[in-house]
Amino acid sequence: MKVYRLIFSFIAIVTCSVNLSAIMWSLEKMKCLVCKQENHFNVISSYGSYIYHRPSKFQYVFWPLTDPRVLYSCKKCNLTCYMGDFQRIPSNKIDALKNILSNVEIPRENTQRYHQISMVTRLNVAKKVYEQLNKDDFFWCKFYRGLAYHLDEEEKYEQAKKARIKALQLAKKIMAANDSPGIQKKMLVISGAMRYFLDDEKNAKRDFSKALQLTFQDSKENEENNKSIDRYLTNLLNEYLANDESSNPLKKQGVILVEKQLKKSYRKTTPELIDDLQKDTTFLPVKIHIIRCLISEENVDVIPALQYAIHHHNQKIRTVTIRYLAGLGTKAALLIPDLIHVLNKPKLDQKTKYFILKTLGRIGTKAEPAIDYIVTIIRNENNPETKSEALRALGRIGKKPKTVVPLLLEILDYSTDHEVRLFAIEALGSVGKDTQAAIPYLIKSLAEVNGYPRISDCAAEGLKNIGEQSIPLLRQALNSHDRNIREQVAEIIRKIENE
Ligand SMILES: [Zn+2]
Repeated sequence: MKVYRLIFSFIAIVTCSVNLSAIMWSLEKMKCLVCKQENHFNVISSYGSYIYHRPSKFQYVFWPLTDPRVLYSCKKCNLTCYMGDFQRIPSNKIDALKNILSNVEIPRENTQRYHQISMVTRLNVAKKVYEQLNKDDFFWCKFYRGLAYHLDEEEKYEQAKKARIKALQLAKKIMAANDSPGIQKKMLVISGAMRYFLDDEKNAKRDFSKALQLTFQDSKENEENNKSIDRYLTNLLNEYLANDESSNPLKKQGVILVEKQLKKSYRKTTPELIDDLQKDTTFLPVKIHIIRCLISEENVDVIPALQYAIHHHNQKIRTVTIRYLAGLGTKAALLIPDLIHVLNKPKLDQKTKYFILKTLGRIGTKAEPAIDYIVTIIRNENNPETKSEALRALGRIGKKPKTVVPLLLEILDYSTDHEVRLFAIEALGSVGKDTQAAIPYLIKSLAEVNGYPRISDCAAEGLKNIGEQSIPLLRQALNSHDRNIREQVAEIIRKIENE
């Protein structure tokens, strides 16, 4: 078959009987019809039909339009057009083309070959060339779909959106002018595809459902070709309409685009990542990856970016930032006012609360300004996991004994939850240094040996931490009727005195 037909005829593609295993390109010398310059361009020597199942089919863009080698560009006069057109420029258009090309510039400094020049750059020149060649709406609709595909590839998502809006308008125009149900089916697939990629899933599905009622028919094709195109379109429509998440074409395409952005982000510097974090065009999973990278840097330079993320309008970004913030350790101290602000929000979810408390605990003594807020949480919280984490944070901060110790004793009086008791004892041991009130309770807790980690071990640690101040009461406890307590107390006294 004539290879140039590939570019312009979808029919030639789908019904093609050639099914070779690999795409093969070869190099050919071609003379530019505008300036007579000789160029070397790639031509297709073979391909297989599997190319019609690549993900770009969901944008109704097919190989080879997705391949940078398909768009030729003369190295002298910049004549740029698809491979099949390069040597078919009508002679009566040459003067007009010379004229428009005289104002065109293509940067070629860092490119050895024509296909290394950005596709978007070349397509913008090709657009000017085709405007001289009286192309119909079918051509332009396809042109803008291809342009949108390559704009995505070059991460120009806003421009890609504009190109898809153009393709959609053209599809609607074609449908309005053509009432043949055969053509309508294909154009509805295209308009639905564009809407899908413009995030208008509802109307996309409406177009697809309408298309499914129709049968493809083009009077220029034989019956067999018409049948195989119709089958292809129906399969594509069913794939679009499938409710199964994994076969959602937008999701599949999204995954590919996200992977590309992610790959690029691996090579970026911290300021570049911070910049990407604030761009609308960065995909959410990429932003999340960036946040994790920034936190793992453990560098104060990233604090303003994290501050931005903590207050982001997207809940997922906020949650992820708070979730990983504990990894920043004491450096997160600069974010305490932000964390308190979030803690004060009404209807704060358990997970966010939990991770803020974890971070405050990791910050340690510097998180003292947050103590009153943590105390309020402990008083009002019913979830044992959150309550435990709040107690743990109090222990790690280890300040304000006059506020904290009475609260801890109160909790130990009523709570039966092992974790809650454990972290309350731990906190008592660390805050209790400046208050005598903690010591009797810690000694009493030496009897609590069930559960793991053992509360008695935690109490012993606390008493050792308090040190000499606890010795008078510990000596009294040497008379306890509980042998286990007597033994533990003797050991603690020995350790304190040896320090
Ligand atoms: Zn030329």
